[in-house]
Formats: sequence, structure tokens, C-alpha cells
Amino acid sequence: MTSDASVLLFFIDGLGIGKRGPFNPFDNLNEADPLAIFQYEPPAVLLDGIVVPTDATLGVEGRPQSASGQTTILTGINAPQLLGYHKQGFPNQALLEIIREHSIFKQLQAAGISPVTFANAYTERFFVERPRWISATTAAVEASNLKFRTVADLLRDDAVFMDFTNKILIERGEQVGERTPAVAARILADISGKHRFTLYEYFITDKVGHAQDMQQARTVLPRLAEFIRELLGHLDLERMTVILTSDHGNIEDLSVRNHTLHQVPTIIWGAKRHQVATRISSLADITPTIVALLTDTMKGHENN
Ligand SMILES: [Zn+2]
Repeated sequence: MTSDASVLLFFIDGLGIGKRGPFNPFDNLNEADPLAIFQYEPPAVLLDGIVVPTDATLGVEGRPQSASGQTTILTGINAPQLLGYHKQGFPNQALLEIIREHSIFKQLQAAGISPVTFANAYTERFFVERPRWISATTAAVEASNLKFRTVADLLRDDAVFMDFTNKILIERGEQVGERTPAVAARILADISGKHRFTLYEYFITDKVGHAQDMQQARTVLPRLAEFIRELLGHLDLERMTVILTSDHGNIEDLSVRNHTLHQVPTIIWGAKRHQVATRISSLADITPTIVALLTDTMKGHENN
């Protein structure tokens, strides 16, 4: 039976598959596995994870960007193709409409898959100031009437901040303690263990890539790798499929300030990884694959 199958979608902003060399922070950084994946090399991923090099350009000229890439990941609709270009930053009206109607949360709700959740914490300031421009995920959460997790949830160990260590929250003056990657991983594992579908987002990689900051990259990447290793150690991978993906490359080539044209690594862990892997070739395949997995309509049943 697969009725209790569940999925954790781990989104990492700005993570591509680059060449080895002095501008790739993954090179010679052993502690950065399981993300140390290079062009022209067979990936060595822990816990039998499968890496599917995934197209982020989506048949549209130019460098892939966050708003259209994230919209595509979260809906299964090729947003750059629809717009005719890659949209930077935050979703515009056209993208918001796509997200509000077709987000993965909406699709799963419509299919009766519940509960679903977004694990990231928002600060109180977000609700008070309600920024004019919101991320693709924020739009998806709002449109699905999901509850936003807050700093209060985080204090109850029921939310994870996007940097998972809480350092950024502390810098912003929030009264929270710092977390080790291991502690944060256990909390995210607990949350995903209670939901059929969980989304978690991590953005630091894109910021470090734009800053071309090798030293920062060599600090955050091993931490991120530790977080992922610990997370996988806490999850029941018989039941849970973990899909890690990104919207475009960036941090894997610090010689340029911009996003790259590289493929992104979609890494899949769990008993259903092979079935999932065969369905993914571009960012537009992520949501349909998750919906098929959770509604038990994937081709090639392998129910135990
Ligand atoms: Zn960016």
C-alpha cells in the first residue's frame, strides 16, 4: 500500500551542476557532499540518492531566473515559455495567476492529499508590512489557505527558518536561539513526518552566488550538506520520498555574478527514487511527478 506515501520537496535557490575548478566552491570541499556534483563525473550521492541533471532553461533563451523558475517548479507549468522570457526576482501578475490556480498545494488539495505544509517560518514583520512583492511560494501558500508558520512556531520547534541555523533571524533582532544543522534537521524531519507533502526552501546559495563570495560559500555549503545528511538520517525513506531541486545555477560558478545556464541537480532519495527519477528531465516535471506519486498514479507500480 502506498496510501501513506509522503514527499519532502527541498528547494535550494541557485544551485547548478558546474565544472570543477577554482571558481566552483564544491571542488575540494569534501564536507559539501551530497551536493558536490560535477559535470562529466558520475555523482557520488549518499544513501543511494539518484541525481537527475535537470534542465532549467525550459527552451527559452537567456539565463534562467527565480520567479519563472520557481513558478515552474511549484506548478508544473513551463512559466518562461508562457511569458516568453525568464522572469527575475518576484512573480508578476501573469505568474501569480498561474501560481494561484495551479500550485502544487492546490493540486494536492484538489486530489484529497492532506495534510500539506510549508515548513519555513515567517517573521511577524512580514504580516505587518506585507511586502508588495511576494515570492512564488508565499503566493502559493496564500492561495491555498495554508497556515503560515511563524517565529512562534519556530520557538515551539515546529518551523524552520530559511537559513535553518536562525542566524539571520537573530541578526534581525528576533529572540530565538541559534540551531545546529543537526537540530534544525530533526525539526524539519518531524514536520515532514506529519505531512503528506512538505515544502522547504533555502535561499543562501543564491545570495552567495551573486556576491561571488568563495569564503562564505565554503562556510555555508558544508553546513547545508550536514543539514541534508542529518535530515535523511531522521526520515523514514521507505515511506518518504525526498526531492531536492533548484531553480537555476549560480553558486557552482563564482567567476560570474549572474545565474548560470547549467543544469540543476534534482536529487531523489527514498524507496520510490527510481520511478521518480525516470519522470524528471526539466523543472516542469517536478510537480506532476509529486502529484502522481502521492495520488498513486505513477506508471510502473512498485508497491511492496
Ligand atoms: Zn538569483
